[in-house]
Amino acid sequence: MKTGALKFLVCPPCQTELKLEEKSRKAAEIMEGRLQCSSCGAAYPIIRGVPRFVNDDSYADSFGREWNWFSTVQLDSQNGTRQSEETLDATTGWTAQDYKGRLTLDVGVGCGRFAEIVANKGGEIVGIDLTSAVDAAYENIGARERVHLVQANLFSMPFRKESFDLVYSIGVLHHTPDTKAAFDRAAEMVKPGGGLAVYLYDRYGFSNHFSDMIRVVTTRLPLKVVFYLSTVSVPLYYLYRILKLGSLFYIFLPISMHRDWRWRWLETFDWYTPKYQWKMFYPEVHRWFREHRFHRIMMSDEPIRMSGRKSLQRRQHPEAEAIQRVQQLAG
Ligand SMILES: [Zn+2]
Repeated sequence: MKTGALKFLVCPPCQTELKLEEKSRKAAEIMEGRLQCSSCGAAYPIIRGVPRFVNDDSYADSFGREWNWFSTVQLDSQNGTRQSEETLDATTGWTAQDYKGRLTLDVGVGCGRFAEIVANKGGEIVGIDLTSAVDAAYENIGARERVHLVQANLFSMPFRKESFDLVYSIGVLHHTPDTKAAFDRAAEMVKPGGGLAVYLYDRYGFSNHFSDMIRVVTTRLPLKVVFYLSTVSVPLYYLYRILKLGSLFYIFLPISMHRDWRWRWLETFDWYTPKYQWKMFYPEVHRWFREHRFHRIMMSDEPIRMSGRKSLQRRQHPEAEAIQRVQQLAG
């Protein structure tokens, strides 16, 4: 943790500033210590360079394992590709100019694959994650300038509302107990005039029904077992590609069709292990943006990738007001 993080970190329940007690340091990084709330007296430990605001990650522990087992597979700097950068760009539509000199929040930072790109483009980035994935992210990018990593629950973030110029969440909100509530928390963090971008699974397509049935079993198996079962995707990919009926098989047993075998293994594991995996329709996500006064909403398909700008006026967007009125009338 860098001392600069004190400018945006607050005690989650009471929103008060935190006082730093430093125990050990490595260059600019505070490795061990604690953050003390001056109001309610709560204390949050700094362990292995990361301030920790949670002690239970049970519903998302598959991601903690995932990002520690596959910690560098999707990192552009490690695999020599631009795949993470392309996904970030396609989801947000933001450029280096948008990031430079601004504060960006990554909700569900995982191993740090997108946060790394924001830092490369000159932005200051704060990445939160509920799970021990933050340790993999810290290993990958924690010591870099302008990178801050925090272990926190997105439903109780250690920041004040409207603290960030840009907020994005890629492939995360649909893995929480309530996607809409998670979206609300992310949207609240955006300053007026700032940007929000999300990447969510969509509910279109037939193969979803079959993978949901398989997930009934795989989400109950030990993670290590699914870790090995997911290796089936490595050879199965060739079978799906060679056989004329491959696409038909794919409907019944969907796997990642990524060219890189490690990436394919990771993505297949990622699909079959999370406890929650909600899927959305475009209109509902579009409505969520409008409810939070976002305009200039852009979207691209498969999966749902949507971004928008928050209105500078505190007043609600007329459309959002109309929606609320209809909801009130409907009781
Ligand atoms: Zn407090």
